[in-house]
Amino acid sequence: KPKLLMTPGPTPLPPEVISAMSQQIIHHRTKEFGEIFSRVNENLKKVFQTKNNVLTFAASGTGAMEASAVNFFSEGDTVLVVSVGVFGDRFINICKTFGLNVIEKKYQYGDVANIDEIIEIIESNKDIKGVFITHNETSTGVTNPIEKLARYLKNTDKILIVDAVSSLGAIDLKTDEWGVDVVVTGSQKALMSPPGLAFVSVSEKAWEFYKTSKLRKFYWDFKKYQDNLLKESQDTPFTPAVTLIRAVDAGLRLILDYGLENNFKRHTRLAHLTQLAAEKLNLELLPKKEYSSAVITAIKSPEGVDIEKVRKIMNQKYDIMVTGGQATLKGKIIRIGHMGYVDEFDLLKTIECFELALLEVGYKNFGVGEATKAVLQEIAKEV
Ligand code: PMP
Repeated sequence: KPKLLMTPGPTPLPPEVISAMSQQIIHHRTKEFGEIFSRVNENLKKVFQTKNNVLTFAASGTGAMEASAVNFFSEGDTVLVVSVGVFGDRFINICKTFGLNVIEKKYQYGDVANIDEIIEIIESNKDIKGVFITHNETSTGVTNPIEKLARYLKNTDKILIVDAVSSLGAIDLKTDEWGVDVVVTGSQKALMSPPGLAFVSVSEKAWEFYKTSKLRKFYWDFKKYQDNLLKESQDTPFTPAVTLIRAVDAGLRLILDYGLENNFKRHTRLAHLTQLAAEKLNLELLPKKEYSSAVITAIKSPEGVDIEKVRKIMNQKYDIMVTGGQATLKGKIIRIGHMGYVDEFDLLKTIECFELALLEVGYKNFGVGEATKAVLQEIAKEV
């Protein structure tokens, strides 16, 4: 039986995406590929909510995170990196690797970024040229309220770079309207496609930064990708991952047919159901409910429970993959993903098996079936 991936990526593939990948390979310098790629680019713009081109790379999300440091800055430039978890910390490491002067603003794992505090730091450090922040921190299940930060930075001479790897397409991010300069995402999460592609949108303001950036780049040189998108038959400067582009083409079409707004609502609802189940199980969320993510719910391990064992039972006995904690959160939380091609019934099954696995490790502080019932009753309200 294939595992049900209730993880924060990779996420399950819709049949349309799977069959899009089962075709003979086509050459990428052809009209046929150009048509597919142009459609992908147009649809990416819709999902990114931008009028600017979205650059496509054969890479995982981290590759595009690195590229977003390399393309806009020079050694010694001061940047502010906000971190609320593992992926914010990754941005700090990337920026340091390339010799940027990094001001770190770290929050405790489980906390949300305080935008007023961040704006104060920016106002008191005139040297800051760019700000990096994670939209949805997958490691802690926290969504940062980046709109206010983006709107503030829009009227300054600084750029905002956002890691939207686990949010884009599932959580609203109005790139142009809010004024986010660089948005990075990957194929394997809300876009319902396999791992292997990364996407980056670049604002006009960010292109001005590109012109003065002195960090070395070859494969990652954004202008090469932009130039190939300005050609009549769009393609990429180097051989693209043609099959994955076909997959994303199908994934994007499904999202847009369903409607972006509807997709945001659908994810919020899945999060609501998961939070409700946690409550009925007398389990605490890691973050406060008001900034708990729409795509992943991080639940604290109750005292004396081997939560890693719960995760393993769900995987080995019930074929449901959820994830544990990363870094310092290892063994302390369990994370239920509800991202992309999963529905209420996948979640219902996950909660049922979560109950059984909790019982198996000796956690008895709940009425058996109560969480499942609460979720089912919520679903029944819509019937
Ligand atoms: N940022 C966030 C918020 C993520 O969730 C992930 C993947 N879990 C990454 C970056 C890294 O992406 P990848 O594993 O595709 O390199």
